[in-house]
Amino acid sequence: MTALSIVVPCFNEEPCLERLHQRLSAAARASVGEDYEIVLVNDGSRDASWSTMRRLAADDPRLVAVNLSRNYGHQLALTAGLDLSRGDVVLIIDADLQDPPELLADMLAKMREEQADVVYGVRRSRAGETAFKRATAHGFYRLLSRATDADIPVDAGDFRLMSRRAVDALMAMPEQARFIRGMVAWIGFKQVPIVYNRDQRFAGETKYPLRKMVRFAFDAITGFSSAPLKLASHVGLALSISSVLLIAFIGYLWLSGQSIQGWTSLMLVVVVLGAVQMFVLALMGEYIGRLYNEAKRRPLYIVQEIAGGGSRPAAPLGVISKSPADDAESRVDQPRT
Ligand code: UDP
Ligand code: MG
Repeated sequence: MTALSIVVPCFNEEPCLERLHQRLSAAARASVGEDYEIVLVNDGSRDASWSTMRRLAADDPRLVAVNLSRNYGHQLALTAGLDLSRGDVVLIIDADLQDPPELLADMLAKMREEQADVVYGVRRSRAGETAFKRATAHGFYRLLSRATDADIPVDAGDFRLMSRRAVDALMAMPEQARFIRGMVAWIGFKQVPIVYNRDQRFAGETKYPLRKMVRFAFDAITGFSSAPLKLASHVGLALSISSVLLIAFIGYLWLSGQSIQGWTSLMLVVVVLGAVQMFVLALMGEYIGRLYNEAKRRPLYIVQEIAGGGSRPAAPLGVISKSPADDAESRVDQPRT
């Protein structure tokens, strides 16, 4: 077993890779000597990331380059990397060097001192990110901690150091829609924060456009809370109370011989009720869609190729496809019957 694994999901990060490799190697060496591995996961990049990874892996026996069969998204790429890691402790870090690898030494020390299973990075500042990203992230983390039961730390990303047993516990969770920082909070053990300043991206631009951010936020909330489903009962209760009041009012008008006319008020009620119903239906749809996805029980990812790092055991949550060459060899070895 290796002392330390560093797992990095990469999507179109070619310009960062060389510098990333240097800084990760230096940080790992300073902390654990030569007993480490770096697992780079290529999440279906459309640039030259994979060829660069292969080249780096050819020169560095400590580098394991994993090529997924397509783009699965940040959280699944990370899952693949964790599945294939072998270290006693595992560092998760982004490829863009926004999170400083040099913090590793402090994280290891903290893990040892506090006997913690998880040391997670909390962002004190976020350099070079748009005001919009900062504001949405700020709102999101606070909404999340109010909506969910798991104690998900505020302003913490996936940058964290985990013990082997924490990683194994995480890998025992089979869900498709993964919100890893929340899942890590759910597993328990002792988890301690370490505060740091987030740098700018080393190169390239964010791989989280608004669409992916919204999807991510939905996964987080539907994955950790059924509170939105209870919205319907609250709205329903409020509407029933107002309808009783309305009936009493109409009865009073009828008895006193008055009548009211009004197209506007009628239309307003119809439209508001329609909107509320559709909204609640959509919320239910989110959860049903999630159930549907989970019920299919597909593997979470498919590994097309692994370069360097020797042979890896079959990953429990994904599939490692065999290359046609492997098949040809095994066919030759087997006696025909
Ligand atoms: N990433 C990935 N697959 C994707 C999107 C992102 O593996 O589909 C990786 C990306 O290469 C980076 C990490 O996830 O290492 C975080 O992405 P990014 O830095 O763009 O997010 P931000 O820091 O802007 O939130
Ligand atoms: Mg980033």
